[in-house]
Amino acid sequence: MSRFLSPRWAELEPYAPGEQPRDRNYVKLNTNESPYPPPDSVIAAVAAQAAQMELYPDPDSKALTDAAAEHYGVRPENILMTNGSDEILNFAFLAFGDQNRGFAAPDVTYGYYKIAAKAGGVRFTEIPLKEDFRVDAEAFCETSEHVVLPNPGAPTGVSVSKADVERILQANPNRVVIIDEAYVDFGGESSVPLLSQYDNLLITQTFSKSRSLAGGRIGLGLAGPEIIAELLRLKNAFAPYNISRIDAAAGLAALAEETYYRKNALRIAETRDRTAEELQQRGFTVLPSQANFLFVRPNFLPGGSYYKKMKEKGVLIRHWNQPRIADWCRITIGTPEQMRILLDKSDELKGETEI
Ligand SMILES: *Cc1c(COP(=O)(O)O)cnc(C)c1O
Repeated sequence: MSRFLSPRWAELEPYAPGEQPRDRNYVKLNTNESPYPPPDSVIAAVAAQAAQMELYPDPDSKALTDAAAEHYGVRPENILMTNGSDEILNFAFLAFGDQNRGFAAPDVTYGYYKIAAKAGGVRFTEIPLKEDFRVDAEAFCETSEHVVLPNPGAPTGVSVSKADVERILQANPNRVVIIDEAYVDFGGESSVPLLSQYDNLLITQTFSKSRSLAGGRIGLGLAGPEIIAELLRLKNAFAPYNISRIDAAAGLAALAEETYYRKNALRIAETRDRTAEELQQRGFTVLPSQANFLFVRPNFLPGGSYYKKMKEKGVLIRHWNQPRIADWCRITIGTPEQMRILLDKSDELKGETEI
């Protein structure tokens, strides 16, 4: 720490993103990106913006917001577009949380929640997932904190039922319940239809995964007008031009390509289910996933060794050296060819360990 740093940041912990190594060409299955590129129309829309880069973008992202509202069947007052969904999560923690009222999240969950909450001085409480990695809805009904839950779950892929989401929403109308739907397009059930009934519901989504735009940074929040107005106040204070011209153009073009994206999401879900079967036949424990990844326990090797040996073989997956999940790895679903390589390398590794 330098002598210049404010003591406010003495405890600051950085988020640890999945590695993006350049040392060799990996089969990259570690950060839940889409294996399929954006459609030509999105690439053309991005290219067309290059000639106007001397101009600031629209601070209200109006065209993108209106198109998203139409897409989700809500009004523009129900939406805030952000720089990735991490930004809306951060705004929500800052807007609604503090040292006296924090957020509760599962103990095994998306790592950014804890980092962002703590960085913003927001109390953070962990509620253990059940033994089978399902969300303990009862415990979330009993907490007096705001709630943040990924659905489908991260890194588990396991979904929370709509009935459980509603129970949590009903249990305390005076706290905000964030449902993070980063992976909902791969087979989960969206809570968007609940928006008209619950003014304490905030749904976050992203264009990073199912819309092949992780390299752009486009996310959004969907909620009642009251919550959106508060989040907008923070957006206008911290990041008035939060969506770049390029991202706004990419997002707008992406919203016009539903057929393309739905086809890809379906392909990925099929590849996922086939890969899950293949892994189970090989003795892996595989959680039931509705996302574009599988959370697996190899059983013939500890999770950390499996991750490390697979990396040596050129296949990059994700492992967390954390209580409860140290024996597990998360595998992003790639193309069928990439999954073939994963299975072949895994078989090779199993052969080597049995010698
Ligand atoms: C990837 C991810 C996000 C954030 O994605 P952005 O790229 O910031 O939009 C949010 N929540 C979960 C659970 C994720 O896995």
